[in-house]
Amino acid sequence: MSEGGAAKPDGALEASLSVFGAKPSLALVSVTRSSPGERFARAAKGAGIFWAFAAGCVFLPGLHFVLVPTFLLVGAVAGMRHLRDVEVVSRVHGACPRCGHEQDFATGNRLTSTWSLDCPTCHNTLTLVLSPTKASAA
Ligand SMILES: [Zn+2]
Repeated sequence: MSEGGAAKPDGALEASLSVFGAKPSLALVSVTRSSPGERFARAAKGAGIFWAFAAGCVFLPGLHFVLVPTFLLVGAVAGMRHLRDVEVVSRVHGACPRCGHEQDFATGNRLTSTWSLDCPTCHNTLTLVLSPTKASAA
């Protein structure tokens, strides 16, 4: 509890960062609600990558019977997933429980109750768990 009194960003959620063999530390998770336009852009980007592969596979004799429909399908699924990503994690700030280095972690994933993060300083895989009681704006 060393960061008492620090102003919490608006809408930040409290979470704990844990790693095997170390005491969990507190982290703050900021969430962005994306607009339909942003979601569509992300979906198009996600699907476009796979559809580009599908287009490239058209020229592979034999294999294109399998690869083209596969990439088209995977692209559609990836696009649909992005369309449903309403709440996206925009920032995770906290101290690594292993090395103690306070930092921002890589984000951009969909908001779930738990996910894995890599500490860029000590390269341990950390588990982030959102606190069951969300930090509500008082
Ligand atoms: Zn670390």
